[in-house]
Amino acid sequence: MVNEEKLLPKDKFLSGEVPSCLIDELYELYKKVHLFLLQLNNKIKVVSVERGGPDWDNSGAVKITIDTDDKGVVFHEVGHALLANSVFHRNHNPINAKRNEAWGEAVAEAIRWLMENEYIKPQSKWSKEDFERQKEQKGTNIYKANIILSKCGYTLEGFKKMWLELVSEFDNTADYLDRQFSQGGFTEF
Ligand SMILES: [Zn+2]
Repeated sequence: MVNEEKLLPKDKFLSGEVPSCLIDELYELYKKVHLFLLQLNNKIKVVSVERGGPDWDNSGAVKITIDTDDKGVVFHEVGHALLANSVFHRNHNPINAKRNEAWGEAVAEAIRWLMENEYIKPQSKWSKEDFERQKEQKGTNIYKANIILSKCGYTLEGFKKMWLELVSEFDNTADYLDRQFSQGGFTEF
């Protein structure tokens, strides 16, 4: 099955609750991020995108807030599907529940940054201000996201290569992602 056929059909995307021009725009952004994730794991599913949250659950049900100045939320919430469907989630191995899974928010933020950098012009407030400020604040998910982005060179291609390597070299240890991302001088989370 080609990846386009795995996307949520447009008539099931935010149906009826949002101005149609905004639905059109958000659907295009959703397609970009889901198609990117399918290159990393062709089983990633999104079963619904509704207004609310924002949040995401393991079944692939996504909720997004509707804000014309914050469209990147869709990248973040759909981006959660990557780690949640990976070898780093407790569904794959219960040891992940302790530390590897704790990278889930940072992975979603890193995906958001990469997708916004490519597809949202001019830069959003999140990317221009929130990200820039919090990337220096140790302990925040954006700080951790910036560690991931540094490791992959701030590019979608770099992220793809990095992720596929991380997955293929996973040694089933609880602190695998901590150790991988601590290389290169980033030791304080
Ligand atoms: Zn999140």
